[in-house]
Amino acid sequence: MNEAHQQEILLLKLGEVVLKGLNRNQFEDKLISNVIRRLRPYGRFQVYTRQSTIYVEPANPNCDMDEAAVACGQIFGVAAVARALPCEKSVVAIVETAKKYLADEFAAARTFKVESKRADKRFHLNSIQLSQQVGGMLAEAFPHVKVDVHKPDLTVFVEIREKAAYVHGPAMEGAGGLPVGTGGKAVSLLSGGIDSPVSSWMMARRGVWLEMVHFESPPYTSQLAQDKVLQLAQELAPWCGQLLVHVIPFTEVQEEIRRQCPEEYFTLIMRRFMMRLAQQVARESGAQALVTGESLGQVASQTMMSLGVTEDAVDMPVLRPLIGIDKVEIIRLSRRIGTYETSILPYEDCCTVFTPRHPNTRPRLEDVREAESVLDVEGLMAKSMAGVRRFRIKNDGTMREILPRTDKAD
Ligand code: ATP
Ligand code: MG
Repeated sequence: MNEAHQQEILLLKLGEVVLKGLNRNQFEDKLISNVIRRLRPYGRFQVYTRQSTIYVEPANPNCDMDEAAVACGQIFGVAAVARALPCEKSVVAIVETAKKYLADEFAAARTFKVESKRADKRFHLNSIQLSQQVGGMLAEAFPHVKVDVHKPDLTVFVEIREKAAYVHGPAMEGAGGLPVGTGGKAVSLLSGGIDSPVSSWMMARRGVWLEMVHFESPPYTSQLAQDKVLQLAQELAPWCGQLLVHVIPFTEVQEEIRRQCPEEYFTLIMRRFMMRLAQQVARESGAQALVTGESLGQVASQTMMSLGVTEDAVDMPVLRPLIGIDKVEIIRLSRRIGTYETSILPYEDCCTVFTPRHPNTRPRLEDVREAESVLDVEGLMAKSMAGVRRFRIKNDGTMREILPRTDKAD
């Protein structure tokens, strides 16, 4: 057995991708290219797929397998990540490998079983025979553990493939969903709150490639608020892949609304502007939908009637993955994603500037449209768009501003 064979590898189990019919290859190809791109910072890897599993093999001993395993756990389309050790295709080699490689797991377990898969049908034992033989020898090697085929503490997985046999212990749960890039492109409205990072993550998990827009209202909102949103985007990028964040100045829009519109509609009219501007960004970048973190009934602007008034301003689909999700569940997801601690930093969002004392929770569309008709919608939008700043965040979280002059070449 040569050196390379004794290096630990990663096995990525495909999730929903395997349910795809004719276009399954397209999904797998996308997933593989996402894996390759995501692993680039951690060394050189060979990545290929066989029978619903992606193999990630380090090309040399310098690869950072710990970081690579964590990164693979954040790739949508991967249902589970196992670290496995290849060995020669013989019962003795498999048992020796399991004894060494899973020594800690055996020490902690009281019961175990072996589960085998024989993809290489030329192997002389079938999977049941293989499990029995390997299990018997491991039970002898570790007298304190008993075989329990029903509810074992530890399951030792053995797979016989073309090139080698692979031994691994329990797999880590993967991110699930579908590979980013297979579900179209959308623009997500990212505030500094708890909800919108979660809604973005949920759409990325359905394979949607995202660009972010954030509205800022200096001096009412601070530089710290903007930094916080960029930090959230940096925390999302390992899941969502490379992100472009458009930071759109919104002060003048808000001041004009305050000057000219009835107070009860401030928030709604402001939200209609957010949607329009996001739609313009979406059109320019070839995106087909908008994403928000709205959840039914959470605040005055998220009643059913308010949502209707908000989305009337645009003609693109508005995706609201949190619409039926309770705040406690949203918080749980936010912790899992890793954005919660940043989201609760206490900086003002432009939504909380000029909030009406008595917002209308049952707005009529005609009334809002009329209240808004005094504004120069096009003019205000043009001014906002003229001040957009763009930040490119790579999937490893590094960030740089895209300056207007280099915009075209980019
Ligand atoms: P969040 O926790 O995401 O801030 P929220 O419950 O505070 O949401 P709102 O402030 O009413 O709700 O905002 C609803 C949605 O509008 C947000 O989830 C987000 O998608 C979008 N949004 C709000 N403020 C901004 C902003 N400053 N920039 C971009 N999008 C925003
Ligand atoms: Mg908010």
